[in-house]
Amino acid sequence: MSEKILISACLAGFNCKYSGGNNLSEDVRKLYESGRAVPVCPEQLGGLSTPRRCSEIRDGRVFDTEGNDVTEYFEAGALKALAVCRKNGCQKAILKEGSPSCGTRWIYDGTFSHTRIPGRGIFAAMLEQEGTELMNEEEYGGEI
Ligand code: SF4
Repeated sequence: MSEKILISACLAGFNCKYSGGNNLSEDVRKLYESGRAVPVCPEQLGGLSTPRRCSEIRDGRVFDTEGNDVTEYFEAGALKALAVCRKNGCQKAILKEGSPSCGTRWIYDGTFSHTRIPGRGIFAAMLEQEGTELMNEEEYGGEI
């Protein structure tokens, strides 16, 4: 049986993005339609609603645009998504770049000024510790 690949659900077109929309990648959607992808949205799994306020990481904590500390939701959701990853034996993940949950190379700096800094989202960091191979939607070119 082919290896299962974990994906950020928004990349397959699920409307789980904070704004209520998605981050559709045609290549990731095709992978999903092939039956090989396991979609997760750690923020929804953490109990956050959709739509929800935009959030960014600052000093290792996650805050929304109103200044609420939402770290516990992000961590709880990441743990649930990690359990899905383990259950399906996924060793690779294609994640939405820049997200405070799913970002693999960079995130926003916590000032809500569209400033990017190197770093990982809460879920991506957990997967990295797990030894999962991470790539973002641009690095995934339709072959895996
Ligand atoms: S948490 Fe991840 S899967 Fe969910 S909307 Fe954000 S980037 Fe997409």
